Amino acid sequence: MNVLKFGGTSVGSPESILNVKQIVSSRQESVIVVVSALGGVTDMLLGTSAQAESGDKNFRASYERIRRRHLDLVEAVFEPSATRDRLLEAIEAKHESLRALYEGVYTLRVLPGKTACQIVSFGERISALIVSALIPGSFLYDSLEFIKSTVIEGKNVLDSEITEDLVRRKFSGIEGRNEVAIVPGFISTDSRTGEITNLGRGGSDYTASIIAASLNAQCLEIWTDVDGFMTADPRVIKTSYVIDELSFSDAMELCNFGAKVIYPPAIYPVCSKDIPVLVKNTFNPEAKGTVIRQHSRSGSRTVTGISSIDDTCLITVAGTSMAGIIGVNSRIFRVLADNYISVFLVSQSSSETHISLGVSASQADRACELLDREFAHEIAEGSMAPVQLMKDLATVAIVGENMKNNAGIAGKLFSVLGRNGISIIACAQGTEEHNISFVVDRKYLRKSLNVIHDSFFLSEYQELNVFVCGIGTVGGNLLGQIASQREKLMKENNLKINVVGIARSTKGIFDREGIDLSSWREQLETGKSLDIEGLRNEVIGMNIFNSVFVDCTASADVAGLYRDFLDHNISVVAANKIAASSEYDKYIELKKIARRRGIKFLFETNVGAGLPVINTINDLINSGDHILKIEAVVSGTLNFIFSTLSADIPLSQTIRLAKEKGYSEPDPRIDLSGKDVLRKLVILARESGYAIEQKDVNCELFIPQELFDGTIDQFWKKLPKLDAAFEERRARVENEGKRMRFVARLDNGKASIGLAEVNKYHPFYNLQGSNNIILLTTERYKEYPMMIQGYGAGAAVTAAGVFADIMSIANI
Ligand code: ADP
Ligand code: ASP
Ligand code: MG
Repeated sequence: MNVLKFGGTSVGSPESILNVKQIVSSRQESVIVVVSALGGVTDMLLGTSAQAESGDKNFRASYERIRRRHLDLVEAVFEPSATRDRLLEAIEAKHESLRALYEGVYTLRVLPGKTACQIVSFGERISALIVSALIPGSFLYDSLEFIKSTVIEGKNVLDSEITEDLVRRKFSGIEGRNEVAIVPGFISTDSRTGEITNLGRGGSDYTASIIAASLNAQCLEIWTDVDGFMTADPRVIKTSYVIDELSFSDAMELCNFGAKVIYPPAIYPVCSKDIPVLVKNTFNPEAKGTVIRQHSRSGSRTVTGISSIDDTCLITVAGTSMAGIIGVNSRIFRVLADNYISVFLVSQSSSETHISLGVSASQADRACELLDREFAHEIAEGSMAPVQLMKDLATVAIVGENMKNNAGIAGKLFSVLGRNGISIIACAQGTEEHNISFVVDRKYLRKSLNVIHDSFFLSEYQELNVFVCGIGTVGGNLLGQIASQREKLMKENNLKINVVGIARSTKGIFDREGIDLSSWREQLETGKSLDIEGLRNEVIGMNIFNSVFVDCTASADVAGLYRDFLDHNISVVAANKIAASSEYDKYIELKKIARRRGIKFLFETNVGAGLPVINTINDLINSGDHILKIEAVVSGTLNFIFSTLSADIPLSQTIRLAKEKGYSEPDPRIDLSGKDVLRKLVILARESGYAIEQKDVNCELFIPQELFDGTIDQFWKKLPKLDAAFEERRARVENEGKRMRFVARLDNGKASIGLAEVNKYHPFYNLQGSNNIILLTTERYKEYPMMIQGYGAGAAVTAAGVFADIMSIANI
């Protein structure tokens, strides 16, 4: 025989309650069906009580809503019939009793405990009436007759012996009768006074477990609104998934720490009788569900699940007089226990000078008062400090039997949290090594859960949350590449890239679930208006885990945000060169913050677009090499100009062509000034270990300064005047069998940029179009320098380089 418990959502709507009928009717043997109140009704009953007690006459409208909730369901599910009329009559009689109770509370303005219990019992009593009418031939039992409670230390608790006996007697012989028994969950009566009591919120699970254990049922089935017991609360962690099998002890740890799927006391009765629990979905009965049993085949996973409590406070008792003195802890726990304050986490330093206790927010102030009173003498004397209270915290537990004897779990836990900027306020792990619990600031709860889920449940996929700023050719291309690679990365690399923000200079769109990349341009049109401060606040305010800010702009303002982002543990990938090439101290600071926080600041595309230049330099240095010399042609624009220059095409025309073909900036002077090459050289030099500034670079320009000083029109007008002299130089160089190249050079720590003349044996001689070339002379590559060559510009290759940087963050 099985006991089936249907929760509030399972009996809450016409569709779901018809599913209940279907599930129960398909059974061939006797079943006991325990039902909760209709979803939300218990809260409504309690809320209406509070209204009546406070003299708010709106309690009548609230009562009416409760009544309508029941009547509407009946009217939706039952055709007009004699059964329906009888049911409505029975329900209305209960409503009438309920109404009378509320009127009494309202008149007297008091809500005695026993009246409150009477009121709240109507939820289950009415839902059981409905379910029993729905299942023809079923029998309705009154659990007030056999679920008994007693008062221990001021609290209603199950009177287990009496209950077990009564349940056995009540259901004796049911096995052979092929009967469907309907039982209201949650409610009970006091074994001495007979007054109505209950088993606490979520207590229908407990009713079902008690009955299953008393009758030695084959299985306890918990029917709810999710496919099973999941790795984490699915409302918070979208990627959580169903655990096939779970041990009782793991289930107990997870439920005690907030996994609402089963009421924690409900686990003990079935666990002690070794009766398996099956968690199933009323809305999807085909789903396999989760089996909870003594010896589960939970597989090799070290962490089974994570759960959390979000209204935690931490009380710290500290003082020198605590060190080594026997008895301080016993006083702390005695005073708290005497006052029914439950402590769910304890963390004590080995110096024994302080102890921190996790308690629920509702009990925290009282606990502090009690402890201050207990230690009043020591506090007055100065050997102990007044008790400290930290509020607005949350406690997270990672649970798994296999964590025992598995080194490195705590290390991994703390390092992923640290990398995401989440600091741990207190932590505890018992020698059982079955549960590691820690306390964080409440605002980091969601992020903590996501980070841990992401890191410990890799069988699904790792997530990276990306903000893309700048939607010009590079940013636009990048978004296209991410959209087309996403599926493949999920399948082949278990990596899910969510673009959670896209911004351009004045607008942005943000969505923590990921923006639909098929329509980002349209969405951005109607996005939020943003200034730079707004952008900062949106990105930081999202407080999302594993996040990366990608800068595809050329804006100094955006570059100015990196520090703040890194300080908030957001990695930065920059196609923008400004940050890496401005003041050295700032550049070093950004790199240091990233290193300290275990995140990344990457800018591979700053030099040579997608060519692996910076990574190569880093690899050489990290493996012990030294960069002695760099010679590079890193301006696609200038290279185009010098490869196009000929007797027929003078300088002014090559510059015009570069502009027309889109190789140069709209104002080509930005390229001609060598500014871009200078920045790239500074970055290469710094990455090679040289602390140089832009002003340290010797610049030999081939365009006189006066052309840079005026307007762009004046520039175009004056430019042809340079043609004759330039042609003379070009002709001479050609006669000598050489070519002109604009070269960036670092030699012995000295940096320069300028026009060079190279002969046909030089690797730069044959450089085509807008290609880049970088020669690295190092201690290992001395005689024959290392050469990196290829497209050094272009949106697609640059975007691909940015994408590669993003991928390298995923692989931390
Ligand atoms: P019922 O009304 O059926 O008793 P509850 O609302 O009490 O349902 O419990 C089921 C809910 O528990 C789920 O809808 C889910 O949101 C929440 N929950 C929290 N943690 C977990 C978890 N680890 N696995 C499954 N559900 C969980
Ligand atoms: N109806 C009660 C509650 O909401 C008991 C239960 O659903 O298990 O807490
Ligand atoms: Mg429940």
